[in-house]
Amino acid sequence: MTQEGSAQKLSENEEKALLCIRDHVFLPDLECSFGRRNTKFTLGDISVSSEGPYAYADNHTIDIALGNNVFKDGSLNESLAVWQLAHECVHLLDPINGGSNNATVFEEGLATYYQNKDFGDENIAKYLEDMRLYDSEGKAANMFKEFRDCECSSWICDDKDIKYIKAKELINKYINAFGISKFGDKVRHLRKSGVSLKKLTSKDLTTAFMKISSEDAETLAENFSKWKCNRLPTAT
Ligand SMILES: [Zn+2]
Repeated sequence: MTQEGSAQKLSENEEKALLCIRDHVFLPDLECSFGRRNTKFTLGDISVSSEGPYAYADNHTIDIALGNNVFKDGSLNESLAVWQLAHECVHLLDPINGGSNNATVFEEGLATYYQNKDFGDENIAKYLEDMRLYDSEGKAANMFKEFRDCECSSWICDDKDIKYIKAKELINKYINAFGISKFGDKVRHLRKSGVSLKKLTSKDLTTAFMKISSEDAETLAENFSKWKCNRLPTAT
């Protein structure tokens, strides 16, 4: 996620626990799969915020804030923290200063794919439920179910969490079509040619992924925060 917020004050023990999370930063793995990060930017703090998880770049330093749900009664839920971190690390590849709401559907889909690549859909639902993102009534889990069950191609969704899952499904469609290794080659090649994940156009995607439909290319190049995901990915 990419939005600005303010870090929460932590106890000494919580600070120590978060330091260990830094060891999990996924950059070597991500660079191997999707190409070198923009080294003009440096990773700053990893903190916790009620508005997290998000990554925010300012003055060429990128801070990551995890959600404050990673701490419960002062102890760190490490798997939840690492799961959130994996997503934010994708935003470290092509940051831009003032990075609020500037990711494309492609970048958010890739980040959500990467975060969940070792999890099944049932785990995503479980995490959404565990995270109790908005309320105590399991709204996120219900919306996830609604998304899974929905066969209507004109369903318009503004819910952010469902949008992440839908962006991931669209990325998955092309990972399945090419295989992860070839998909990674294409992303690396695209980025090496100077195309940023935040600035890619439908033409960049059509050139890189020859098989991509023009409709998918246009969707993936859209600004994620403005995107109205009004259709489900179609089968290849
Ligand atoms: Zn994100």
